[in-house]
Amino acid sequence: MTLDSAAVLDTDTLRKQPDYGFAFKAPQAFLQRINPNDPKDPLLLQIRPDPQEGQEVAGFKTDPVGDLHKNPIPSLLHKYHGRVLLMASPRCDLHCRYCFRRHFPYQEQINRRHWQEALDYIRRDDSIHEVILSGGDPLTLNPEALLQLLAEIEQIPQVKTLRFHSRTPIAIPEKPVHRSIIQWAEKTRLNAVMVIHCNHPQELNQETAALFTAYRQSGIHLLNQSVLLKQINDSIEALEALSHKLFSQGVLPYYLHQLDRVSGSAHFEVNQATAQALHTSLRERLPGYLLPKLVQEISGEPYKTPL
Ligand SMILES: *Cc1c(COP(=O)(O)O)cnc(C)c1O
Ligand code: SF4
Repeated sequence: MTLDSAAVLDTDTLRKQPDYGFAFKAPQAFLQRINPNDPKDPLLLQIRPDPQEGQEVAGFKTDPVGDLHKNPIPSLLHKYHGRVLLMASPRCDLHCRYCFRRHFPYQEQINRRHWQEALDYIRRDDSIHEVILSGGDPLTLNPEALLQLLAEIEQIPQVKTLRFHSRTPIAIPEKPVHRSIIQWAEKTRLNAVMVIHCNHPQELNQETAALFTAYRQSGIHLLNQSVLLKQINDSIEALEALSHKLFSQGVLPYYLHQLDRVSGSAHFEVNQATAQALHTSLRERLPGYLLPKLVQEISGEPYKTPL
């Protein structure tokens, strides 16, 4: 990449900036989609540490969704009926500044030592028909470890569906782990779902299109979740284009999340009235199957709350 003197995308400088307790991290494959001359680039704004992260804002907490108290065993969340979320990896390929897990005590909570305990918990509960692999990001596991985990889940008879929640398809569409998942999906008895995390149409390119084609050919259903983010995708144009571009790459919009109020993320928040107005405009413009559900995670609710 050639950078002229006006370039805002200088990764050495980004790395040396204060990081407010959450390191700067972005792979080359993602950085390439940033316009280096646009200080307001919607991808750059998601990854660049910002002094506003250091400000304390009332109502923004370190554990906004109360997850830390919902673990029946470390690394397993069983909040909703019929499905459990297994935090399979403490890492992500990309650090999103608004992330609600930026203060999560990953090293204590997520450890492969806990997998057997989590699998035992699932085996004991007949009502669990879906296992969601999340994190961090499950696609940061080494492929052998991930395949081993998938094989163990597959042996639990009441589990019918395996869902991945991952931003890796966007962060690194050409990562070798995708190939392992595709080969697994071609043979598995489970329904396989991949919920990617894409916030802006500019995150989608030829590499993501090729990856999603391969995923779909292997039988994996592709859905997308986004977070509504001020200055990044809080316009009808961006959201409408996102839905259409996702669909052109074989992905259906699923959720549009109101930001979880984690400390350091207040400057990304879109207020409720604006969020609802945007969603209503989207509804007027999009076919129903391209309209994501606008939801918020409210501690103690048995589902993601529609707004
Ligand atoms: C979001 C979430 C799920 C999945 O919810 P769906 O509505 O099925 O997408 C499951 N478990 C936990 C803990 C979650 O946060
Ligand atoms: S990929 Fe997801 S979990 Fe990881 S930093 Fe970004 S928002 Fe957080």
